[in-house]
Amino acid sequence: MDSFLNTYKRVSKTTVTLPTERVISYLGLGSSIGDRAAHLRSALQRLNSESTRVTALSSVYESPHLGLAPGDSERYPPHLNCVAQVETSLSPNDLLDSVLEIERAGGRERAERWSPRTIDIDILLYGAVSESSPRLTLPHPGIAKRAFVALPLAELAPQLTLPSGERLAETVLSETIQQQAIRRVAGLALSLAE
Ligand code: ADP
Ligand code: MG
Repeated sequence: MDSFLNTYKRVSKTTVTLPTERVISYLGLGSSIGDRAAHLRSALQRLNSESTRVTALSSVYESPHLGLAPGDSERYPPHLNCVAQVETSLSPNDLLDSVLEIERAGGRERAERWSPRTIDIDILLYGAVSESSPRLTLPHPGIAKRAFVALPLAELAPQLTLPSGERLAETVLSETIQQQAIRRVAGLALSLAE
């Protein structure tokens, strides 16, 4: 009996110290200033931490700047974008704090909305969480509107269903996505080892 109790205690202790449950989240990264690929790479390296593991990366895409004013897409350099799948033990709010911090470390300066940026990191999905607060909207409302988000995300998770009920594999075939100017950048693979 004693030995059973000892074993039991050991097992319970192990159970208590199990790693915190992790949630799969998808992050959209973009850069349009300076060495864009280097900005994406250093953001991915900073993301990959004890609390947040980068588990998959999409291809890299290039698309014109999407500004607020007419002519912005000719005035400003094009963006490189990719999507990272992560497994995180952070709450949605803590994950947002963490990505905003990584943006700051990557030299992000906040000018007007949709202005050129060294690095932008958006939380596209956080598990199946659906919420809307002044600070955080999940899933990200731009997924079905922006080819530079929908296409790389569909590479990693075509089976995902958006709040509209549409599967991402269908979203990428929509006219909204198909009519956008975007190209997959062949030969530019992002890997955490680099
Ligand atoms: P954008 O990504 O549209 O260019 P910003 O990167 O400047 O805009 O983000 C502005 C704010 O958007 C952030 O400070 C954040 O509070 C808010 N936000 C709301 N939902 C999200 C989300 N899902 N992911 C990232 N930021 C979000
Ligand atoms: Mg953003």
